[in-house]
Amino acid sequence: MNPYLQNLNRLEFLVTFACTGRCKHCSEGDHVNSGEHINGDAAADMVQKVVAKYAIKSLMTFGGEPLLYPEEVYKIHKAARNAGIVNRQLITNGFFNRDDEEIKHVAKALVESGVNDIMLSVDAFHQETIPIEPVMSFASALQGLDIPKFRVHPAWLVSTDADNPYNNKTREILSLFTVKDIPVSSGNMIFPEGNALKYLNEYFDLSVPHISPYDESPYDITAICVEPNGRVLSGNIYQSDILNIMEDYTPEGKRA
Ligand code: SF4
Repeated sequence: MNPYLQNLNRLEFLVTFACTGRCKHCSEGDHVNSGEHINGDAAADMVQKVVAKYAIKSLMTFGGEPLLYPEEVYKIHKAARNAGIVNRQLITNGFFNRDDEEIKHVAKALVESGVNDIMLSVDAFHQETIPIEPVMSFASALQGLDIPKFRVHPAWLVSTDADNPYNNKTREILSLFTVKDIPVSSGNMIFPEGNALKYLNEYFDLSVPHISPYDESPYDITAICVEPNGRVLSGNIYQSDILNIMEDYTPEGKRA
């Protein structure tokens, strides 16, 4: 086993960079409504192969907006459930359709595919461009299903208790969910990169270094993330076997 990956315990799939939102705080910058997306069959095959060799405890699908391509999301989570991965997460902004019946159908299919932890991104930033009505419909549909973990997942600016117009608006939006007994996660703190650096820089002290909470040591990788074009580590799952890609990995790049 590659020693740099011996503690690997998590797989992440960035389903697409396409998104229905245009958030001011987005770390990924600008988005389009549709675009390249992950191949669910290749991703499912990778899940099965990696789990056979590594003790993977959790898997996450996210984006962009992953539910622009729900079929690929189902395939990945079915593979994760069949492989015995315990925690199977989805992060979504909840806006992928305006039709109530279609929203209910996707909610049900997600649970049936094995997703057991859904984080719904709602806050002042998302709701500047994402209408709340279809998001509430999706939340209501999920509430009626047997899903072990479902919570709304806000982004906070500066700190969770900071008093600024964005956080105050977020508190207002969250109350729409708490009144329906939908739990709220501790959320995440906005990090100054991408759009956040462009539009919210007045809230950050840029004279001090900011370390992304998502960065990890290239010498001890615990999570790997596959991009919509198949890229992961120094390889591509559409072109090479994932186990070879993992074996070839070095912090400096591909082995000679
Ligand atoms: S923060 Fe999420 S919902 Fe908003 S634009 Fe970025 S990927 Fe889309």
